[in-house]
Amino acid sequence: MNLSKRMIIDLRSDTVTKPTKGMLEAMMQANVGDDVFREDPTVKVLEKRIASMFGKEEALFFPSGTMANQTALKLHTSPGDQIICDKYAHIYNYESGGASFNSGVSCKLIDGNRGMFKAKQVEEVINPSDYWYAQASLVEIENTTNKGGGACWDFNELKKIRLVCDNNNLGFHLDGARLWNAIVAKNETTQQYGSLFDTISVCLSKGLGCPVGSILVGDSEIMKNAIRIRKIFGGNMRQSGYLAAAGLYALDNNIERLDQDHKKAKEIGEELTRLSIINTVEPIETNIVIFELNKDINEKEFVQNLADKNIHIISMGGGKLRMVTHLDYTNAMHEKLLNILKTLKF
Ligand SMILES: *Cc1c(COP(=O)(O)O)cnc(C)c1O
Repeated sequence: MNLSKRMIIDLRSDTVTKPTKGMLEAMMQANVGDDVFREDPTVKVLEKRIASMFGKEEALFFPSGTMANQTALKLHTSPGDQIICDKYAHIYNYESGGASFNSGVSCKLIDGNRGMFKAKQVEEVINPSDYWYAQASLVEIENTTNKGGGACWDFNELKKIRLVCDNNNLGFHLDGARLWNAIVAKNETTQQYGSLFDTISVCLSKGLGCPVGSILVGDSEIMKNAIRIRKIFGGNMRQSGYLAAAGLYALDNNIERLDQDHKKAKEIGEELTRLSIINTVEPIETNIVIFELNKDINEKEFVQNLADKNIHIISMGGGKLRMVTHLDYTNAMHEKLLNILKTLKF
């Protein structure tokens, strides 16, 4: 049997990766303890290391990015408050309504471009202080933007938004599930993000290939209740050093290589652009490729046609299809995909 025929190419998300041998070995060797008693040495090392990467006083390990973000929203707000974010924001669209469920807040949505907006737009949506308005207490942004197709923010615009936050007494949270991708793509540093935001969540299980884990960073004052909120959300873990060890391994081995994922995504985009059945391919800055088919092409059939060739992609709704490159998307898979796209008959 031809092995390449059975090769399954899964581009639905960068979360489909499995730990490599090296990562599993690092996990096996982890020194662990009960983290509820704050006695897991490996978790402590990971938290210290991430905090210092961002120049922040504290970091806390979470089982998911959603929980890290939801904790941040809770830390920054009181019930009845308003969060200012983009209409594409993950915290608004893909966290099961958690902002209202957990924190009792509403979201004021900005009509941005690919998930990004301008400082001026923030100023425009801040409610007056009259008592009948909901009071804004937090601005939340995402870098890279997920629904926005892996787009990277202009750091100068973020600085301007920080000023708006300072002038209006608003917190500033960064959902950095794919911040590593932005930093590599734009040659930026964790320190510069740490100096701009009050809290940042970063993910270890997307681009970095860990099985589990996100971290929330911030200075001691804002982070004071983070561990209590994590407990309320049911996020306490015990010998989580096994997971933290995977995170430490990923920080050492899997950040710089993200540029390979970005290069592959661009090459996929170029091939898609050549296909007559495709209407638009959104600009590709990192590892996410979002495209739309021509109106006369049946989306379900197109996705199924690829699935029959062992290529898995997902629909984002609204006619948008998505491919995401990642650690387990090999050169051989890439070559095969490009060849299939070249000869795609539909
Ligand atoms: C995936 C993702 C999250 C949530 O992470 P989970 O670990 O799946 O809960 C948050 N924000 C963005 C932008 C994401 O892409």
